[in-house]
Amino acid sequence: MPADDKRTLAAAARRYLAREADAGRGDLWTLAAGETPRARTPRKIEESRPLEEMGVGLEDLETPSVSPPGDTLEQVAIEVTACTKCGLASTRTKAVPGAGTGKAGIVFVGEAPGAEEDRRGEPFVGRSGDLLTKMIQAMDEKEVIPGVSLSRESVFIANVLKCRPPENRNPMPHEIEACTPYLVRQLALLQPKVIMCLGKFAAELLVGAKGTIGGMRGTVFRYGDAKLLVTYHPAACLRNPNYKRPVWEDLQLLAREYQTP
Ligand code: URA
Ligand code: SF4
Repeated sequence: MPADDKRTLAAAARRYLAREADAGRGDLWTLAAGETPRARTPRKIEESRPLEEMGVGLEDLETPSVSPPGDTLEQVAIEVTACTKCGLASTRTKAVPGAGTGKAGIVFVGEAPGAEEDRRGEPFVGRSGDLLTKMIQAMDEKEVIPGVSLSRESVFIANVLKCRPPENRNPMPHEIEACTPYLVRQLALLQPKVIMCLGKFAAELLVGAKGTIGGMRGTVFRYGDAKLLVTYHPAACLRNPNYKRPVWEDLQLLAREYQTP
């Protein structure tokens, strides 16, 4: 990463940390349950805060957008499949490294495998997955990005956690911390044009700030060289169909941003 970019990121991180400290929130991951998230004023482009600043271990990577020499998606998948870095290793059936390719330059990042994903070792293959698949198919059928064919195979689908939390409980901070280096490596290898965060856990991790989806969607963030967008999780759409319209708007925003520098 050029020195200027590094300085910009570092300055953004310092501003962010200063705001958090002013608001009495020193540590992002230890907010009391139920605390109201900080209201954000959406801005057109925001720098994503470097994960290092969140205490997420990036010991092997100089920046989130640089791969260690020789790293591959297959290698990440092999390591995930054998990983015992957190307690979820002992409750999972199969780890779910992620699936798809970098062909289209689009990555969807969800939360964690559910029951069906845990059985099959594949991401988004349960009810939420069916909806995500339909969303991708709809983008393809409506040709939202002319000339770019969109399918589960041409995009990459990943999760913040690679193993299922028991009873689908929320990911815990130490699990996110243990697992994030895999996602960071996948994103560095894929070098996507656009990353779409599905739900709060992916959004807060990659944007680098606490917030609500309602407050974050519609803003174009940056993650390394990629544009970073946020929308509701498909499971939220299944619980409340009113979310489907904003999600479709967010997918159209994805398409527009994909086609602009
Ligand atoms: N399935 C996944 O793979 N991820 C989710 O976040 C939800 C369901
Ligand atoms: Fe390893 Fe991530 Fe699975 Fe924990 S959730 S065991 S860190 S792959």
